[in-house]
Amino acid sequence: MYDFVVIGGGIAGISAGARLSQLGTVCALEAEDALAYHASGRSAAMYEATYGAPSVIALNLASREYHETANGGVLSPRGLMIVGGQGQDQELAHDLVTMKMDPLSTDEALDLFPILNPDAMIGAGYHADGWDIDTDLLLQNFARDIRVNGQVHTRAKVTDITRLSHGWEVTTPKMTVQCKTLVNAAGPWVDQVAAMAGIQPIGIQPLSPVHGTNCRARGHGCVEVANGDGGGRKLVCEAGRRCAHRLPRGRRPDGAARRLGG
Ligand SMILES: Cc1cc2nc3c(=O)[nH]c(=O)nc-3n(C[C@H](O)[C@H](O)[C@H](O)COP(=O)(O)OP(=O)(O)OC[C@H]3O[C@@H](n4cnc5c(N)ncnc54)[C@H](O)[C@@H]3O)c2cc1C
Repeated sequence: MYDFVVIGGGIAGISAGARLSQLGTVCALEAEDALAYHASGRSAAMYEATYGAPSVIALNLASREYHETANGGVLSPRGLMIVGGQGQDQELAHDLVTMKMDPLSTDEALDLFPILNPDAMIGAGYHADGWDIDTDLLLQNFARDIRVNGQVHTRAKVTDITRLSHGWEVTTPKMTVQCKTLVNAAGPWVDQVAAMAGIQPIGIQPLSPVHGTNCRARGHGCVEVANGDGGGRKLVCEAGRRCAHRLPRGRRPDGAARRLGG
């Protein structure tokens, strides 16, 4: 019997498993062929301490030293610019303050990033304190920590969970394992895993990205998803907000762009 079974081989599950491996034995189970197959492998891979809700910023700051130093560090310089479009004066002013950015004139922004359209923008902000995360190295560092005191299994989709008097029994197509403590780190699938364990869902649904990879190649972290009614598409940024980037012309809603499990 393991002390901990972690369901989900994204960054949340593998990092939690690494830390838990200091307290007991760990078995990490990932449904796909490889770790970080979903959101964790499509991230824009940026460390930006000032981005997000106050609770996220606190976590960002708490993780900074680890990112900078552990195993030689996983950060390299990138820098971050935000650009305000016409009519976004208030949003730009707000972001400049909350994200601690230096204001840039349109000309200064164009010097840094010449393909901007000066007619479409009202100003910008920049700071150098935004970093590239080597997410593959980060993940492998954590997976190695788990393997010191446990195992990491891919192609191990959890299909059944049973409550035992002394813990949990977790079933996958290739094995059944028992543990004292079960960690649900299944990302957007947390509700499906929770339901198997008899826990009330909290309303989280996976949305299937259509061209997240393409978006990342263009330098911004957005994914294309179907609207809830199944008709039409929209781009959302990783924070779940609708974003201003344009969808490529001529693209039709794709069968893959649907709500799963809804
Ligand atoms: C386009 C994009 C850009 C982003 N950019 C950034 C960025 O620049 N910086 C940043 O910090 N964050 C960024 N993020 C956010 C970040 O990627 C996510 O917050 C993070 O990857 C979530 O990790 P996770 O482990 O919770 O989820 P996931 O990576 O989704 O992992 C969950 C895992 O659980 C597995 N699973 C599900 N059900 C089961 C089951 N029954 N049995 C076994 N395994 C199961 C899935 O296969 C999956 O691998 C971005 C996200 C996106 C989509």
